[in-house]
Amino acid sequence: MNKIRVTIWHEFFHEHTNDDVAAMYPDGMHECLAAALQADDLEIRTAWLMQDEDHGLSDDVLNSTDVMLWWGHALHDNVRDDIAEKVVQRVLNGMGFIALHSAHMAKPFCKLMGQPCKLRWRCANEKAIVWNVHPTHPITQGVPLHFELEREEMYGEVFQIPQPDDLLFITWFAGGNVFRGGCTFTRGLGKIFYFHPGHEDCPSFHNPNVIKVIANSIRWAAPGTLIDLEGNKSQKMLVGGDV
Ligand code: ZN
Repeated sequence: MNKIRVTIWHEFFHEHTNDDVAAMYPDGMHECLAAALQADDLEIRTAWLMQDEDHGLSDDVLNSTDVMLWWGHALHDNVRDDIAEKVVQRVLNGMGFIALHSAHMAKPFCKLMGQPCKLRWRCANEKAIVWNVHPTHPITQGVPLHFELEREEMYGEVFQIPQPDDLLFITWFAGGNVFRGGCTFTRGLGKIFYFHPGHEDCPSFHNPNVIKVIANSIRWAAPGTLIDLEGNKSQKMLVGGDV
């Protein structure tokens, strides 16, 4: 069995500057996610902004990643433009991309969307209910028709994104707002999923339903097998090579 090669990319900033975040995620959100997502069919590694001069995303790492998860918030502008562009090209060539929480403003996501991706927000850490509005989609399998987040940052409409391929989740917040909190997109050969939970001092990445959604999205976004005109199977339709 070919494992899905997953790279979890994290800004890894708030854990160093906010005691509450450090207590919530002692090893960083990326390591929390890596542990929670561990499975026999996944080969998971982590990378972060200050890991090295390439933000942990060397060509070798990019070229051996099938699905990338991305969490960024305060330091989007610190991501080098050429690295962001390489991520975009990799997605166009088939890499799956999962944008988590404030990654809606991350350089690769905005480049892929081609729209401002701004939204209404309120940092009140209020109760939220995530409604599963597409229960037959692969990403929603095993996920209840609704589940509660005990506290989460409010992200609300209008969310300035292109029309999604599929709208999977609509989230209601105790303050009254609603949000298209789980959306899929296709760009080139790459599948993209945006999912809103994951504010840095909220426990959403400890929530089993959130983890189930992210786990499903990795399998959904993994590149498939391509069969060329001569009938040869290409195991991975990646790296921009001819097939
Ligand atoms: Zn946030």
